Amino acid sequence: MPQWHDGLAAQNFAELIEQSGGEHDRLLFECDDGRHITFAAFWQMAGRFGAALIAQGAKPNDRIAVQVDKSVEALAVFWACARSGLIFVPLNTAYTASEVGYFLEDATPAVFITTPQRQNEFATPAKILTLDDVGGGSLVELSRQFEIAPDHPSTWDDLIAILYTSGTTGRSKGAMLSHGNLASNSLALVETWKFTPTDVLIHALPVYHTHGLFTATNTVLLSGGTMLFRRKFDADDVMHVLPRATTLMGVPTFYTRLLQNDGLTKAATAHMRLFISGSAPLLAETHRNFTARTGHNILERYGMTETSMNTSNPYIGERRAGTVGMALPHIVVRVVDAATHVPLPPETDGMIEIKGPNLFRGYWQNAAKTAEDMTADDYFISGDVGRYSEDGYLTITGRAKDLVITGGFNVYPKEIELLIDAMPGVLESAVIGLPHADFGEAVTAIVVAKSGAVLNESPMMAALKTQLASFKCPKRIVILPDLPRNAMGKVQKALLRQTYADLYRPV
Ligand code: AMP
Repeated sequence: MPQWHDGLAAQNFAELIEQSGGEHDRLLFECDDGRHITFAAFWQMAGRFGAALIAQGAKPNDRIAVQVDKSVEALAVFWACARSGLIFVPLNTAYTASEVGYFLEDATPAVFITTPQRQNEFATPAKILTLDDVGGGSLVELSRQFEIAPDHPSTWDDLIAILYTSGTTGRSKGAMLSHGNLASNSLALVETWKFTPTDVLIHALPVYHTHGLFTATNTVLLSGGTMLFRRKFDADDVMHVLPRATTLMGVPTFYTRLLQNDGLTKAATAHMRLFISGSAPLLAETHRNFTARTGHNILERYGMTETSMNTSNPYIGERRAGTVGMALPHIVVRVVDAATHVPLPPETDGMIEIKGPNLFRGYWQNAAKTAEDMTADDYFISGDVGRYSEDGYLTITGRAKDLVITGGFNVYPKEIELLIDAMPGVLESAVIGLPHADFGEAVTAIVVAKSGAVLNESPMMAALKTQLASFKCPKRIVILPDLPRNAMGKVQKALLRQTYADLYRPV
């Protein structure tokens, strides 16, 4: 069977990017702070950052942890790592100092890059450097002193990044990704979505998560296009730059927000080539409303931190609302009986399992968890439940892992339940996601008081806000006399979701 990299001259992802795509003097980033950055300038920035990191003592395979606001420089740190044989570890900007403390202890980075404002919040043996969102910070200053060294001769199997995904036990796991993982996926996406050097992508996603960091950015880098680089998503801003764009990649929330904008019309989007959605379920209703307003069928795809992208609706052919399409080139996606791992017939719900060059290299320092999530025949057990149609479209029908996805961010209920259960007067809790027009799902806590105790929603919310990133904080806390349980003693979250399905629906 041919390998995905047969015929490539490149030996690692940085070489592949350098050799392919468009002209080196093309515009790569048009930033919302007014800066215009060519590919050549960006690549040079990455080379200098790499030299600065090495001068701080970082050696091949050392981790470089980064918690900074979105910027071109933040992406250049990733490419600095890719070119220098270092391992990039991005952290969500919303994490508190104590949450970051866990990641620094787990990843033991040689260097930690933070914002100038937060540099005194962390106690770590790592060297600390800073980066702001408009091209300043000690990393940038330092990098001016160094010449770019030749790139490290990494191979496809070498690690390029560790991305933390929350765990059902409440603790995050670091998914180890290799040069080959990211390169194979980028090649598959460029081919499937037909990206070319004439593409101009609106990039309004965060760059600490696989979607904005890899899916969006690497597709453009590899195909030689340009990005309209926005530090955050704002529907008016997107409408403002839309006339110069050809493509948009977003989470479903982008599309629900754009639909609320009167400027979104057939005429305003007539020149656009492609709208892509992923990271959370796009409601079939949003898909249909978008088509009615613009004439464009949003292309929905499905992926995850551990695997990058797995499936996509077709570029040419029916983009079916409510489905995530079919497996990308070189990737196998099967729906199986969760107990036996035997593939199931179409129209039958089962566990989604994945195999291909996109599969991560395991969880960082957690071989037991890696082994638990892999089958004997080397498929990754995704934790997502889905079903194939007779004609081969995959639909995701549930999440075995009970994940809540709010505004494109993943929230694992257990982490929040543990904090709530530790509060005075609380007997137990169940955290669920409920339908919300803006966020897709809203984190909601159902809480039971200890006998004789009285609980109030607002002080509990206030206490949680000091301990959790804001996207993880419940939007509402509902206090109940007890939780519904099945015969096995398990809390019936499905029943709770059904009972409170209308909690955020406007009356
Ligand atoms: P993450 O690791 O943060 O990328 O989250 C991955 C999870 O997001 C997957 O396991 C799915 O549960 C969910 N997900 C991603 N894309 C989709 C989609 N198009 N539809 C439904 N769920 C999705």
